[in-house]
Amino acid sequence: MLSKKIEAALNTQIGHEFTAGYTYLSMAAWFEFNHWTGFAKWMYAQREEELMHGMKMYKFTCDRGGRVELPALVKPPTEFKNPHDVFARAFLMEKANSKTINDLYGLAVDERDYMTQSFLKWFLDEQVEEENITDEVEALLKVAADNPGALVTLNNLLGQHAGGSPGTTAGRPPGGRPA
Ligand code: MG
Repeated sequence: MLSKKIEAALNTQIGHEFTAGYTYLSMAAWFEFNHWTGFAKWMYAQREEELMHGMKMYKFTCDRGGRVELPALVKPPTEFKNPHDVFARAFLMEKANSKTINDLYGLAVDERDYMTQSFLKWFLDEQVEEENITDEVEALLKVAADNPGALVTLNNLLGQHAGGSPGTTAGRPPGGRPA
């Protein structure tokens, strides 16, 4: 059985995961509008991942006899300066998400909730991946700056490798149809 504190913190984190998914979808929409379909594809894959994270926590909360109470989603940003700006914000979001998962783990330690600690280990490892890949793309986009050739190359590369990191849905567009 979950303590009330852990239950509340899990619900908050479920909200963060779904909000991250919603934000990635908003980023995809911006890329679609600007015809960066490779970057958009990458964002769809990230969205699927975040929804999967949220559902993993949702299921865990239910399995431990907790009550899922979904919080409101935060309105995502809709305007971006350029592809680099999008990834810079995605990186900030991943770092913020790592912090809240870290804090949640800390709470599970304080509460001597070993099951929640064990469950959260997967998320901690996942955040190392998420931060690393987002940081890498952001750095490349910074180098590419306003060079159209470099941006087109990165757009194509990311489109090909969307969801290429472990545990993702391999670049499938929303709805799960094959790419
Ligand atoms: Mg996540």
